[in-house]
Amino acid sequence: NNKAVATPSRTKEILGKYGFSFKKSLGQNFLIDVNILKNIIEEAGIHEEAGAIEIGPGIGALTEQLARHADRVVAFEIDQRLLPILEDTLSAYDNVHVINQDILQADVEQVIQDQFKQGQPVRVVANLPYYITTPILMKLLMSRLPIDSITVMIQKEVADRMAAEPNTKSYGSLSIAVQYYTEASVALTVPKTVFMPQPNVDSSVLHLEMRDQPPVQVEDEDFFFDVVKATFGQRRKTLMNNLARHFKGRMDKTELRTRLDEVGIDPSRRGESLSMEEFAALANRLYK
Ligand code: SAM
Repeated sequence: NNKAVATPSRTKEILGKYGFSFKKSLGQNFLIDVNILKNIIEEAGIHEEAGAIEIGPGIGALTEQLARHADRVVAFEIDQRLLPILEDTLSAYDNVHVINQDILQADVEQVIQDQFKQGQPVRVVANLPYYITTPILMKLLMSRLPIDSITVMIQKEVADRMAAEPNTKSYGSLSIAVQYYTEASVALTVPKTVFMPQPNVDSSVLHLEMRDQPPVQVEDEDFFFDVVKATFGQRRKTLMNNLARHFKGRMDKTELRTRLDEVGIDPSRRGESLSMEEFAALANRLYK
């Protein structure tokens, strides 16, 4: 059968053959549009020398396209009911390896070492289960994996937050967290009709290109992210009010005002107006 998995008719046929029923709790919304998949693979920069890691292959819609365009594909799937189906739909490809594991539990670094050639560029590509988008992405980013990029279909609103610039309503601590590790951009937005079943939310493809170095130098990363979170604590409040609440008992308003002054940041500003560079300067000044 050489018709792509990602068509409505073939997907229905496969689901019927195995009597598969979707588990909403696992975020199972399968892609049924080959054009979208080709766009994703292009945005991801997948080429014949590249290694690809997929999270949640489902019945293999994206996996199949990755197998055709990449050197090797390793996919993590939590739902063991999908294993015999993947075995079937991907039987024509000898460059795919499926691991039956929760991505949040997996030792991805070890898998990269075991499964890909040394020095091979590795890119993560996925149509993510929406209920755990942020934990998955933060795990991949914070574990500083030897990967080049992450290209994922996620809820539009979350993609907007991750790629947001200062002074926009989507900008927040998630934007800083993601952009500290990557250059983030929303590559395309996608209609609900390309999924089976259709999700309740709109979707976008987010592209994250890993940075070699963070864009700012911070004295202490945990402290930096704490300050960022505190600053966005109550969005309507000023920087001073949010910081005073966060540092209560540790630093009073006079002290905070002096330090803000020293880095040239007006205490009456709101968190959403601060750039990554300003957050870094502020956190470094408050750290000592
Ligand atoms: N890639 C397929 C596609 O595009 O048609 C399926 C995408 S579907 C949105 C998400 C997939 O992730 C499902 O197959 C689901 O079983 C799997 N999944 C959910 N939670 C997971 C986890 N913690 N680890 C690995 N896979 C997971």
